[in-house]
Amino acid sequence: MIEKLLEIISPDACFVCQAEGSCLCQNCAETALVSKKPSCILCNKLNIDGRTCSGCYAKSRLRGASVSYRYEGVAKDLIWAMKYQNKRSIARYLATKLLPEDGVVCFVPCDGKARRKRGYDQAEILANNYSKLHKLEFKKLLFRQTHSRQVGKNRPERFKNTKGNFVVAQNVNGLDLLLIDDVITTGATISECASVLKAAGAKSVTALAIAKA
Ligand SMILES: [Zn+2]
Ligand SMILES: [Zn+2]
Repeated sequence: MIEKLLEIISPDACFVCQAEGSCLCQNCAETALVSKKPSCILCNKLNIDGRTCSGCYAKSRLRGASVSYRYEGVAKDLIWAMKYQNKRSIARYLATKLLPEDGVVCFVPCDGKARRKRGYDQAEILANNYSKLHKLEFKKLLFRQTHSRQVGKNRPERFKNTKGNFVVAQNVNGLDLLLIDDVITTGATISECASVLKAAGAKSVTALAIAKA
């Protein structure tokens, strides 16, 4: 509500040409964002469908990754503003730029400290908006494992599958999952999430991101 009011008072202006209305107008989006060519997310070898190559699948249980843009220029600036300038509207805009895929939508949760500082999780906003846009089911599946979470918890352990930093909190058996994050750098975090989800019974996990560094 407050956010809506702020948007009316100071509407988003285009990052590039300052035209009012959106954080990036359509003209500038076409020229300023550089599409990422499909490649294996781990070794960056170009291919036609973004699938993880067979050699890398041994290290990562991601079936593949759909990445919209290269992490540079305006794409990088927008992602930075989404994370550090309290711009939820950018997350909603960028959700429209994620490539169309099919599956149950989930996201890589940011760590608790960043979330508290920011007041929101940008990957959650991306995932939530993406699921509405494409009429897909949205599930909050992954949680960061923290010490406080482990102490004195009293939640059903049935579907819980832990490995390293992440916990799967719901049944994912047989699901094809779309795992959303804003930026993929080395792919280590999203691969860790994929292996936890696969170990919990997911049929496949495909990463979906705005940009790859
Ligand atoms: Zn513009
Ligand atoms: Zn590879």
